[in-house]
Amino acid sequence: MTAGLMNGKQDILREYFGHTAFRQGQEELIDALLSGRDVMGVMPTGAGKSMCYQIPALLLDGITVVVSPLISLMKDQVNSLIQSGVRAAYLNSSLTPAQYDAAISNAGRGMYKIIYVAPERLCTPSFLALAGRIRISLIAVDEAHCVSQWGQDFRPSYLKIPEFLDRLGYRPTLGAFTATATAQVRADMTAMLGLIDPLCVTTGFDRKNLYFGVEHSAEKLERVKSIIKEAPGRSGIIYCSTRKNVEEVCDKLNAAGIPCTRYHAGLSDAERRQNQDDFIYDRVRVIAATNAFGMGIDKSDVSFVIHYNMPKDIESYYQEAGRAGRDGSEARCILLYSGRDVRTNQFLIENQNDNPELDDEAREALKQKGLMKLRRMTDYCNTTGCLRQFILDYFGDKEPCTCGNCSACTGETELTDVTLEAQKILSCIYRLHQRNQRFGAAMIAKILKGSEDERIRQFDLTTLSTYGIMRDSTEVRIKTIIRYLTAEGYITEGDFHTLTLTRKSAEVLMQHKEVKMRLPAERRKKKAARKKRDGIYSYDTKLFDRLRNVRNQLALEIHMPAYIVMTDASLKDMCVKLPRNETELLEVSGVGRAKQEKFGRFFVAEIRSYLNDQPDTEKGKLQNPGDVSITEYVRAGAYKLKPTDREMSLSELCEDILTQLGVSAVKKPLRSAIKQWLISENYLTERYEDGKKITDTTILSEEAGILRTRKISAAGTVYTAVVYPAQAQEFVFENLEEIAALAEEEKGEDQ
Ligand code: ADP
Ligand code: ZN
Repeated sequence: MTAGLMNGKQDILREYFGHTAFRQGQEELIDALLSGRDVMGVMPTGAGKSMCYQIPALLLDGITVVVSPLISLMKDQVNSLIQSGVRAAYLNSSLTPAQYDAAISNAGRGMYKIIYVAPERLCTPSFLALAGRIRISLIAVDEAHCVSQWGQDFRPSYLKIPEFLDRLGYRPTLGAFTATATAQVRADMTAMLGLIDPLCVTTGFDRKNLYFGVEHSAEKLERVKSIIKEAPGRSGIIYCSTRKNVEEVCDKLNAAGIPCTRYHAGLSDAERRQNQDDFIYDRVRVIAATNAFGMGIDKSDVSFVIHYNMPKDIESYYQEAGRAGRDGSEARCILLYSGRDVRTNQFLIENQNDNPELDDEAREALKQKGLMKLRRMTDYCNTTGCLRQFILDYFGDKEPCTCGNCSACTGETELTDVTLEAQKILSCIYRLHQRNQRFGAAMIAKILKGSEDERIRQFDLTTLSTYGIMRDSTEVRIKTIIRYLTAEGYITEGDFHTLTLTRKSAEVLMQHKEVKMRLPAERRKKKAARKKRDGIYSYDTKLFDRLRNVRNQLALEIHMPAYIVMTDASLKDMCVKLPRNETELLEVSGVGRAKQEKFGRFFVAEIRSYLNDQPDTEKGKLQNPGDVSITEYVRAGAYKLKPTDREMSLSELCEDILTQLGVSAVKKPLRSAIKQWLISENYLTERYEDGKKITDTTILSEEAGILRTRKISAAGTVYTAVVYPAQAQEFVFENLEEIAALAEEEKGEDQ
């Protein structure tokens, strides 16, 4: 291996792909491939597997062949490469014979550095002939788990790969890449593909940019609408368990004025293709789909994935949810749970009969395994702990964490004991039943709430012993619990949606069984959570929208999906870095030389015109490089801050931060930002003592490591002071981005 190659990879990463640093695992895999050693890379979706073979492809002599099972994915990857200035092509059944021949002949003349090939093409005479004429230095097998008969995605065509290697006459370096691999499948990959002493790199399964949420929502559709509204102009997928649900969600969203398309196996091929394209090309932002949708969809700017129904296991869930945020941007994955989903899945697993080759024993074993996985999935929906931790545990990825980015950690929802409320609701239905009266959820909520509604009088319901016994609650909350009890099978719904108790209700009414459900958390916690979430969009959204328009226009002109021109992550980075010429644009994540040359001027022009539209004060601020905002310098180096053992005051801490970051700025704005944030999160409080405002600790302070001590002043008087030992310093460092975001927000409000 030459030194040139080793330096080269960094340059390629920058020049072609516009990234400044390698992600976890990439560098080792690239080095191994460059030195001629086989590799196996097991990395989650979106981790950046393609970079691991595309960079060696550009550095090695000869050509790299990428075996990929999915036609749409190939086309996407090749388009991306071409936009990045890499000569690439694909060979699959979507080409006409003439196109195919042209590609083969170009490849033969050394026109391409990378060719993508469908596995079934490998051993065709035309490809074998080509392989004989050119020098293949590297073969990268994407989705390599497809070679294993143990996995769910076994593809017989993958067995063509070893056959092809045998017939090739020489042995290129081999790289196998996948996102999912159990020990069994991993062993299979090595054996079937014939990897020689491969370097195996497995990176964590964690997808840090994804927010995970579980909600026990009675009004699923309303929730879906609000999630869509919280991400204006962004793309999202709503996964439903059945075609019927897909149709219903799609229709109702359209009726509510939210454009939505649909995808399921019951549609014609043509419509499926059309709808999928509408989604990929951003003609429609939202798609309702069954799990048939997604394999091979590489849209990198999906901003949310909602599960309208609970999937059958964590594997399916993580794979589907994982289609969000592939470009590294913050994205949300929210599962709307109801007990009914558990029963639907149970039924499906118990009646699964699709493999006639299985004998009874094997079928029973499979069923038990399915039910066990379903239980784990249900546990996920009901855990009180960190959701990310739960998923990572499940995949054997043992990194203890409370992630701070899931509905449990942010306290957005809480598993709430609603036993008492459930008892009241059930007994109300019971009392009504004794009087031979039956009503729907809305009316029952009114009775319990003690409403003065006209119908209440009409039916003489004020005399009912349960009238008004939930006065302190809201009708919405009562209805939410009623729906939950229905979904859990304590209540059934009859004609005209009237409610009746089931046998199971006796468990709650007589045996005092506990009922717990996930409800939105009380206000204090929720406010903190909301603030965190807003952090997702903590960049200039007005500029972002303008840049997005530029991008979409360019995409239309070259007939490519928008994210191939620029990813959302790149646009956001532009909003933060505000490059004012094409050279500065190269600093933006994801902008390499080719994209800069092709599209750069359009984005730069838009940024300039945007800055010119700003009021003068703003302009002055931006033009003075000495005056950086807190956000900017925090972003530049907050991660490298180190605590010291000294107990510091807040002022000292601020000075220390500025010194460590190497910025010469006044500490006052930083100090007040940190203080404001600590107060807003209840880690500090302010009160008046002898007419003087003093800052004091709260019951939460200790959690943050912030202490109160007695000190003696120079003049000899004793006073109490709030101090920041190492733990508190670290706590502040960890939250610095959020602190900065709050400061910016307040500044915005002041203007
Ligand atoms: P995978 O194949 O593992 O699912 P991709 O190769 O499609 O993932 O990469 C996902 C995204 O991550 C792409 O948008 C890619 O540009 C980006 N990416 C890859 N490597 C890096 C890196 N080192 N720095 C920043 N972004 C990267
Ligand atoms: Zn968490």
